[in-house]
Amino acid sequence: MITRRQLFRGNFDKNTQLEIRPPWAKAEEQFTDLCSRCNDCIKACPEEIIVTGSGKFPVVDFKKGGCTFCHQCVDACQSNAFNDITQQPWGIKIAIQDNCLSKIGVVCQSCSDVCEQNVIQFSLQMGGVPSIKLNTQKCTGCGFCVDVCPKNSISIKPKVGKALPSPSDEKDIKSFVV
Ligand code: SF4
Ligand code: SF4
Ligand code: SF4
Repeated sequence: MITRRQLFRGNFDKNTQLEIRPPWAKAEEQFTDLCSRCNDCIKACPEEIIVTGSGKFPVVDFKKGGCTFCHQCVDACQSNAFNDITQQPWGIKIAIQDNCLSKIGVVCQSCSDVCEQNVIQFSLQMGGVPSIKLNTQKCTGCGFCVDVCPKNSISIKPKVGKALPSPSDEKDIKSFVV
């Protein structure tokens, strides 16, 4: 079944990946009501990670880099589509898929090298490849680790630790994207 949101966005593909709004974006329904799709936040982002998503609304593409939380996107918006920057910017964290090289016995610590929060750690094992461990409580969701992974093993998930919601599940999508 096509949801109201999909209709509004002109997006009828049930398998479409969830889109992540810029940091501090208001809850999804409010955001799409308020955002005029002017692209000012896209132009303002010095990291150039905000792109046009479905329905021409702005989304973050971590394949282009990470967020420094400079809030220039928020400052550029004239449409009140963002929360106050004293609030948490995102409710997201990373997850590592099973194709991660360190999980299949190959030495790789590329993600750990870029993580300033020390979320991704490796513990040495006698005669073996270091095993990967996550301290997701400290993850800011900045996304800098996503693009450095040679196996595309890092994904962004809701901070509550639930599985990714179905794109047709309106309630869970709201909790994911805010
Ligand atoms: S906070 Fe800064 S780096 Fe992050 S998306 Fe907004 S403008 Fe870009
Ligand atoms: S600056 Fe505000 S109104 Fe313009 S596209 Fe970004 S969120 Fe939407
Ligand atoms: S999203 Fe940012 S804080 Fe979280 S693990 Fe990746 S680099 Fe570290």
